[in-house]
Amino acid sequence: MYISYGETDDFAHDGEYDSYLTSANRTDNFIKKLWNFTQQDAFYKGKTTFIITTDHGRGTEPLATWKHHGNNVKDTDEVWVIAFGDKIEAKGEILKEEQLYTNQIAASVAKLLELEIPTDSIGKPFSFIK
Ligand SMILES: [Zn+2]
Repeated sequence: MYISYGETDDFAHDGEYDSYLTSANRTDNFIKKLWNFTQQDAFYKGKTTFIITTDHGRGTEPLATWKHHGNNVKDTDEVWVIAFGDKIEAKGEILKEEQLYTNQIAASVAKLLELEIPTDSIGKPFSFIK
């Protein structure tokens, strides 16, 4: 399943910081509810993995750049990724140990689904996928 939560981006572009934060919290709660459902459902429990990321960052400059992203905003190509659940080795924050790339997500999903696909053009699975 793929879910795209775009509300935070909309509020950021509108410059509505309070709504942006409220939306981020609402999205966190959506994810929490979905995770809790999978862990209480007999079919999904113990067989579900979440990989969550963003399609862009918001830069590393002070709040002046939080509203937008793109080629004109420094470091908006920097994103985060979090993975948890079945077949994920808990390693904590590994930013300092390993550079990750978004092109590794497809390969990671393929590995989780035990699909054999060539990884030379899509990156290698994340190292924390068992
Ligand atoms: Zn945007």
